[in-house]
Amino acid sequence: MNLVLMGLPGAGKGTQAEQIVEQYGIPHISTGDMFRAAMKEGTELGLQAKAFMDQGALVPDEVTIGIVRERLSKDDCKKGFLLDGFPRTVPQAEALEDILTQLDKKIDYVINIDVDHGILMERLTGRRICKACGATYHLVFNPPAQEGKCDRCDGELYQRADDNAETVQNRLDVNMQQAQPLLDFYDSKGYLRNIDGQRDIKIVFADIAELLGGLK
Ligand code: AMP
Repeated sequence: MNLVLMGLPGAGKGTQAEQIVEQYGIPHISTGDMFRAAMKEGTELGLQAKAFMDQGALVPDEVTIGIVRERLSKDDCKKGFLLDGFPRTVPQAEALEDILTQLDKKIDYVINIDVDHGILMERLTGRRICKACGATYHLVFNPPAQEGKCDRCDGELYQRADDNAETVQNRLDVNMQQAQPLLDFYDSKGYLRNIDGQRDIKIVFADIAELLGGLK
């Protein structure tokens, strides 16, 4: 079961990734996690990635493709894998095709968790945090009993600077511009499956499980 998972920020990609790897026992290969781990360990790779990640820029393709090639060659990928955060560019997607051909594998599905832009804005801008104790709320999904006040400690709730509408809009725009050429690339290859991510988490997963049930 060889999968690529895609979805914009707030689409619920992380939640679905956790469930897929648990249910199917395949490794979760997140390039972002790999870079963060390498940075923490202070390895050469971590040092290379840090400068780019700190600026919110993509790590150069040759570095990223190299670590994915190495990771996919490991034994635990024999029964499959779930790629998350890779590919991010068409050259990465083309390199992935080559890597998989060399390993005598191919992608089964590219699962795109699809959520309307307006709903993503609501999900991503609704977060509120208590100034006093750090408890988090969501105006729609987990609202405090009293507006603007923490249920736990009565502290004042605030919105993080990077959760404001303009920043979130910008983040979504950048992500959409990045994702669209990849979606087109995978659609043209017949791998793309759009899953409606606007429903309950369990229903979204049931849809994915139904799709994957057809694979060996
Ligand atoms: P993520 O956790 O997927 O949002 O990734 C965090 C950061 O890691 C990104 O902002 C990039 O700097 C870097 N990164 C992760 N995946 C890739 C990729 N496929 N290509 C280039 N850079 C990446």
